Amino acid sequence: MSLTPRLTAEQAKASMAEIEPAYTRQEAQVEADRCLYCFDAPCIMACPTGIDVPAFIKKIATGNMAGAGRVIFEANPLGASCARVCPTSALCEGACVMLDRDQKPIKIGRLQRTATDHILSTKQRVLHAPARASGKRVAVIGAGPAGLGCAAELARLGHAVVVFDKKPKPGGLNTYGIAYYKLTPAVSLGEIKLIEDLGVEFRCGTEVGADVTVKQLEKDVDAIFVAVGLGRTYALKIPGEDLPEVVEALDFIEQIHTKPLHRVPVGARVAVIGCGNTAIDAVTQAKRLGAEHAVIVYRRGAADMPAYPYEYELAKRDGCEFMFNTLPVAVESHKGHVAGLKLARTRVDPEGKVAVIPGSECVVPFDMVIKALGQEPQAGLLKTLFPKMKLTKAGTIARKADGQTSIPHVFCGGDAANGGREVVNAVAEGKKAARAMHRFLGGQPVEGPVQATRMGVRGKPMGSGFDRPVRVPELEAEYRAKEGTPTAATT
Ligand SMILES: Cc1cc2nc3c(=O)[nH]c(=O)nc-3n(C[C@H](O)[C@H](O)[C@H](O)COP(=O)(O)OP(=O)(O)OC[C@H]3O[C@@H](n4cnc5c(N)ncnc54)[C@H](O)[C@@H]3O)c2cc1C
Ligand code: SF4
Repeated sequence: MSLTPRLTAEQAKASMAEIEPAYTRQEAQVEADRCLYCFDAPCIMACPTGIDVPAFIKKIATGNMAGAGRVIFEANPLGASCARVCPTSALCEGACVMLDRDQKPIKIGRLQRTATDHILSTKQRVLHAPARASGKRVAVIGAGPAGLGCAAELARLGHAVVVFDKKPKPGGLNTYGIAYYKLTPAVSLGEIKLIEDLGVEFRCGTEVGADVTVKQLEKDVDAIFVAVGLGRTYALKIPGEDLPEVVEALDFIEQIHTKPLHRVPVGARVAVIGCGNTAIDAVTQAKRLGAEHAVIVYRRGAADMPAYPYEYELAKRDGCEFMFNTLPVAVESHKGHVAGLKLARTRVDPEGKVAVIPGSECVVPFDMVIKALGQEPQAGLLKTLFPKMKLTKAGTIARKADGQTSIPHVFCGGDAANGGREVVNAVAEGKKAARAMHRFLGGQPVEGPVQATRMGVRGKPMGSGFDRPVRVPELEAEYRAKEGTPTAATT
């Protein structure tokens, strides 16, 4: 059976609505009042972009919503997206001292959302470029979170920036790939407008390597930032993988972001192969779009799954099912369409190796199979664009701490370099590389001031909270006058 839309427009809209609605202004103030405004706050260190969390929360508590939004966007130009998609329990909220007092952490993500929503809904211009330009030009390849983080910071440092993306709209996975009920394209594009207002030029629908060559770019610019993200999903390498109803998770999710929700085709019985966060996004959205059964098939046990625990809980709440210790060995077909999956039970030995249990095979009916085994690095593309660029064994870009690649005028960041982390890491890497590019463009050594040490909270590696936002001194007085606050954002 071929795939078909399953919900009316009203049903789809309700089903894909945001899970956590925005705070009202009053609710936000009540939550903000719980903050202890710690000296040397651990939440700042745990945020990869180093947002001064107590500072923006204090501004919310005193009713200065615009000031709060400005503190956030200056440190993180994708503060509205991050407020919705950051795994806060592993980052800022996981570091909140309230946990040490056996109390709930401050809802930093939701407060951040309240302040950034205020800026977007009132269309305030909170990011500014210096009046005097540096005369240097930079090309950014890829308008995802890393490219945008870099472009915004470079523009705020006075450089002319042009961003290329092969997709029709900027934002990368923020606009096309993250679960719709967390982040809509409208929010992603709304905050990109703040970066456009900085004077950053976007050339979307332009693929570097096909529509414009790196050689052509190099004639026009002084440095390049590469942020092309990751590539296609790893193949299942099993018979039947080429059937029409076997799709990649990212292609399925992209349809949700580019078509009306009630026009997105989905199966009645959907199997999602893999158990990372992408798999969870795929299975929950299939279920929310009307699949009767949406099932994760994972070759290891629940304890081994890479998905965050809160994502797992969400999928269970949505009614998704889980087949652990189960390996797909073939996609079964009927008249050229997916009819089921041949599955085998597995056992994981103490060294972590997965072995199939002989004689355990069975066929389970499915009409759609979504591949979510993780994305491959784009080693082929990178070698074509930059034949002299050094790559790691994994196929990601080899780089120095500040993002400089083996080609001195080429810098990098985001998934293409880190192999796939979170939006906030991509933004932080873009911003950090922009600072290094600024030094490079000024003829200074690329290595910058020593960054704050990384910290661990409850055994998890945390963000670096490495620096404070760039301030443009000539605009300080203007800001203060507008906000009516006597000091800078960090008070
Ligand atoms: C399904 C899914 C769900 C996720 N959910 C979350 C989440 O809930 N929270 C979270 O924090 N993170 C999440 N992530 C991770 C997050 O989306 C990524 O870490 C982040 O988007 C990486 O940013 P990037 O800029 O490096 O790459 P991308 O966002 O992939 O952007 C790369 C951009 O480069 C462009 N490009 C590629 N090649 C070229 C070329 N030759 N010329 C021009 N442009 C090019 C692409 O079109 C794309 O726009 C998720 C990822 C996936 C796949
Ligand atoms: S980790 Fe994310 S939600 Fe937390 S302060 Fe940083 S950007 Fe905001």
